[in-house]
Amino acid sequence: MFYKQKSVLLFFVIIANLFTGQAQNFKAGDPIAVNQKIKKGVLPNGMTYYIYPTTVNKNTASYYIIQNVGSILENDQQKGLAHFLEHMAFNGTKNFEGKGILNTLQKQGAVFGKNINAYTSTDETVYNLDNIPSKDSGVVDTCLLVLHDWSGFLSLTNQEIDAERGVITEEWRTRQNASQRIYNQLAPYYYNNSLYADRKPIGDMEIVKNFDYQVLKDFYKDWYRPDLQAIAIVGDINAEDIEARIKKLFADIPARQNPKKRFEIAIPDNDKATFKLALDKEISSSNIIYMIRHKAEKPTGTFADLEKSTQRSIAFSLINNRLGEMAQKEDCPFKGAQIGFQNYSRLNDILFISLSPKPNQQEAAFTVVMNEWVRATKFGFSKGEIERAVTERISSYENYLEKLNEISHKSVISAVKKDYLKHEIISDPVAEFEMLKTIWNNLDSAILQKQLNDLYTTNNRVVAVTGVEKENNLNEEKAFDIISKAENNPTLKPYVDSFAGKSLMGDIVVKPGKIVSEKTTKEINATTYILSNGVKVHFKFADKNKKDVKLIAESTGGESLYEPKDLPSVNYATNLAEMSGLGNLTSTDLEKVLTGKIANVSFDLLDSKEKISGASNVRDLETMMQLIYMRFEKPRFDAEMFGLLKQRMQNSLNEKEQDIESQMNDSIVNTVYGKNSFKKRMIENQEYVDDLSFDKMKSIYLDRFADVSNFEFYIVGDVTPEILKPLLEKYIASISGIKRNEKYVDKEVEWISKKIDKDIVIKMETPKSSVNICYAKEYPYSLKNIILVSFFNDILTLRYTESLREKEGGTYGAHLRSKLVKLPKPSSKSKATVSINFDCDAEKVEHLLPIVYQEIDKVKNGEIVAEDLEKTRKNYLKSRADSKNFNNYIMSLLYNYFTENYNMDDPKNYEDIVNSITPKDIQDFANSFLSNADTFEVVFKPLQ
Ligand SMILES: [Zn+2]
Repeated sequence: MFYKQKSVLLFFVIIANLFTGQAQNFKAGDPIAVNQKIKKGVLPNGMTYYIYPTTVNKNTASYYIIQNVGSILENDQQKGLAHFLEHMAFNGTKNFEGKGILNTLQKQGAVFGKNINAYTSTDETVYNLDNIPSKDSGVVDTCLLVLHDWSGFLSLTNQEIDAERGVITEEWRTRQNASQRIYNQLAPYYYNNSLYADRKPIGDMEIVKNFDYQVLKDFYKDWYRPDLQAIAIVGDINAEDIEARIKKLFADIPARQNPKKRFEIAIPDNDKATFKLALDKEISSSNIIYMIRHKAEKPTGTFADLEKSTQRSIAFSLINNRLGEMAQKEDCPFKGAQIGFQNYSRLNDILFISLSPKPNQQEAAFTVVMNEWVRATKFGFSKGEIERAVTERISSYENYLEKLNEISHKSVISAVKKDYLKHEIISDPVAEFEMLKTIWNNLDSAILQKQLNDLYTTNNRVVAVTGVEKENNLNEEKAFDIISKAENNPTLKPYVDSFAGKSLMGDIVVKPGKIVSEKTTKEINATTYILSNGVKVHFKFADKNKKDVKLIAESTGGESLYEPKDLPSVNYATNLAEMSGLGNLTSTDLEKVLTGKIANVSFDLLDSKEKISGASNVRDLETMMQLIYMRFEKPRFDAEMFGLLKQRMQNSLNEKEQDIESQMNDSIVNTVYGKNSFKKRMIENQEYVDDLSFDKMKSIYLDRFADVSNFEFYIVGDVTPEILKPLLEKYIASISGIKRNEKYVDKEVEWISKKIDKDIVIKMETPKSSVNICYAKEYPYSLKNIILVSFFNDILTLRYTESLREKEGGTYGAHLRSKLVKLPKPSSKSKATVSINFDCDAEKVEHLLPIVYQEIDKVKNGEIVAEDLEKTRKNYLKSRADSKNFNNYIMSLLYNYFTENYNMDDPKNYEDIVNSITPKDIQDFANSFLSNADTFEVVFKPLQ
């Protein structure tokens, strides 16, 4: 199925009268209609192919090879080699020597790691080429040839294998952290000591560093073969044409004679429940998961399957709504909890009850969550809960049907994977909706309870606890005692659904304002309305995304207007308002009121401005406008929610202390800005939490949103002025407010020194070094300079991939981030920054650092690889063309036109500049930016 269950936090609408509608009758064995838009076939050699034409991204296509192969198939000498092979696919094939695949596709504007990628898991290995230009027949053939070579023609040269050992060791190092170490302790319990526990895809580093070439080749020969492979091509292509090319190109891959059996591992049963407590020095918050394993059900492709999965999904979402509501209370013993049912391994599914207890509340938290589970299984759900769940789903599905042409390549691929690897058919959405309506129509509490009770079996139970040193951790005896007490709890009563008869606007009477003037801007075909309360609204019609409306509104001021002492309250003022609900509604009530509505709004305070963002389906545009009106006129501030917010911040502060990444981030801030930087408060420490104040937050919010006339609105979407204008008059022009003219105040903080060079030693469980380098300088703001900063960034990235990663095997990857930003008016300053970060073996820092600087010097000396420039140029032109498929681009166009005074659609503002950039431009930029730039180099090293 394409259709993904949306998160329960999204808002939906009621439009069909479900309970009186005529639904068809289906029988359990009725087949689910197969999606006819997808072409599926099997070649004589056993390879499966899928072709799906779509114009969601015009002129591009994505190419995948999905292999029914993973680390579970490794033998004891091959641990890590399924993943090793995945890397080797990018290091030479029959038709693409060396880095030929990357080189060829980068010239089409593709980016390694983004458009070209792969992953290996225990039971599948997937390679992808995403959004490659599809209108050049030669490029299409090239992409198909890449899939062809991946299928069976990897070169696997000894030299390339040796070069990759270091990269993978560094990948392991980068990924190695406390949760990985906890997983290693718990895996034997999760998987009941089956092979899964010993076949983590990253593997065994001793093997990765030392295996004989032949061992890798054996794995390749045994498992990479057409009967275990499917290819999928999705995009702006002609299906018949692609099918013909596939049949021709893939014919030379022979079917394997006497292939090894592709075995599958079932996790063995355990009659007696098992328990494990895992600890790690760098873990400071606990977690409990109680799971019950089941045999995976074989899909039958019938109404019965859809019925069961739909009923389960609704039952679990209702329990999770209750748990979510409980977590909104300060005295609730858990931070979050979730109960669900999902596929776990090839042959097993799990029911899981998982929770994050608050500090020192493991027993209480587990007890409360278990009681909720048992309450649901015993007493079921109220009529109101079920009706709201169904309303949400109808709305969500209708919205989905309106946007069938906008299904992303990735969603299609995820359906293809389920079809190929798990035999779940790809359904026809319209026919599926008919079945769903029948299922929803027949729902009642007994049906949902039965689904839950059927999954709560007595065997195959596991309780896995991530504990915290110094806490009173849940032990085996206590855990099982809590479970059995909950199962037999005589005091449990049915859940009371407290929600009734509330509405968003309540009895509020809105006095509409007026649109006092209207002006058209021909150049970008936009309209500007001035409202009677002084608000300016810029609007542009856009239907790149059907039925969508997007909104942004901004006014200058923001955090810059406050003193350091108030900054914590500034930073969390809008969070408090959001958590507190709206008008007379708590946030839980609000969520219920908005059941079935597709509309959301958020209010934020940023460095230099107040910002409102909103999005809705066109039929719920009025709801979005009402939400904006209410957040201005009737914000709610709840002292209990303040208590909860402060508690959450205190907890996360405590957790930060043991977390290596947070320690590194805080150290960099302290090193660069000094511990006593008064203008800003960038680190959330104890003093920060102590300075949070309910009264301040409330008054800051009210003050920041007191002057609506200072806001400029930008609206883009599939809506006509006839619909929009009355809503603007009613809900935006009616917002009252004082009038003032606020400006941003420049409070930029300087670094403590122009040149900072520091090594910082920290205690860590898995030793690694992390290198952080940054350049910053005031630099003139222009469209061309923005583009130059970006070219410099991307060309260096290509260099570091070649030198630090591929040649040295020194790091899994160097990450660069660069930008040129200007401070808001009245400031005339703008600043460019370039930052470089990578992890590596602590022993190798002194060897790798000079390489980082050598690559920069080369750019300064004009030694720029011509191909790097062309790859980058092509990528920018292609990305810009791709972005034009979506309403977000239209929003940027409108926003930039009115804030920065330029027209994004005019090639002279982007395409012409990108096309004009020469190596000399990059060299000149590097020299002028880097000369006299402020720099820091902070290197973290493990305490020996
Ligand atoms: Zn990898």
